[in-house]
Amino acid sequence: MSGIHVLAIGAHAGDLDLTAGAVLAQHVMNGDRATLLHLTLGERGHPRTPVAEYAKQKREEAETFADRIGAGVGFLDYEDGLLPEDDDVKMRVGDQIRELRPDVILTHWSASIHKDHARTHRIVQDARFFGGLKTLEREHPAYWAGELYYADNWEDAEGFAPDVFVDLRDEAYEVWSQAITGYAFARGETYGFPYVDYYRALTIVRGAPAGFRRAQAFAAPKGSRDLRLTHFGPNERASERADAGADERANAGADAGADERADAGADERADAGADERANAGADERANGATDGSVNGDADRRSGKGADAGAGGGAT
Ligand SMILES: [Zn+2]
Repeated sequence: MSGIHVLAIGAHAGDLDLTAGAVLAQHVMNGDRATLLHLTLGERGHPRTPVAEYAKQKREEAETFADRIGAGVGFLDYEDGLLPEDDDVKMRVGDQIRELRPDVILTHWSASIHKDHARTHRIVQDARFFGGLKTLEREHPAYWAGELYYADNWEDAEGFAPDVFVDLRDEAYEVWSQAITGYAFARGETYGFPYVDYYRALTIVRGAPAGFRRAQAFAAPKGSRDLRLTHFGPNERASERADAGADERANAGADAGADERADAGADERADAGADERANAGADERANGATDGSVNGDADRRSGKGADAGAGGGAT
């Protein structure tokens, strides 16, 4: 149990439920907290049901799904297909980040065949900035969400290459697999796309190359993927560092922040080849002092991370 909070922000109710729902279910089972935030209900997604009626249905389906996996759920009141992209919506999402204080944010990849998805990607990136900007006064104090990943969505496929593969336990998969059938669109009742079958099968497709029975995969921001070397030639691999570090920190309880993050992602990081993840901004700040004693690389890697964290800037 690590006690972290994972926030999944989607353009439409159902998007992150499909692409990240099993991971969210598993986090809840681990004693973590998970929240789904839908920027729109996706109420224009049914070719035969009137929009107002489908909006009501989608809200109920979203609440039922969240309830079944043990997650919280929130909605912003934007219109499906008309999600704006301006500083107002970015600040509203930033306010949600400040209020919910997630350790990890999951959202859409940058390219999509759906304009709301692509906008959500950019909205979340800037919302994270607004959330962490200390000199921007809002209702809640500034809060920097340390980790950001992009979900694996067939509608957002252009240029998507997963970096992180989250190992799914059978129990988590089963809970999600049943819960997702509560959405009519996922059952193929709107335009006929077999969402349930597709995303169930995708857990096998993503799991197999990673050596897992099932997985849900995510991409990381470019800055997080850079492998920062201290020198050319043999370097201690960050994956080994993360692995060793997780044990040490868990046992020693050396640093509260480091513990949380190490618990949160150490397994995924170590096995998924997400060496890069260990270099992500907030991690570096949290881990720098602890790792410094075992690994001289840490402080040299920490420069970029410190900037990102302190300024609420981009990674
Ligand atoms: Zn969508």
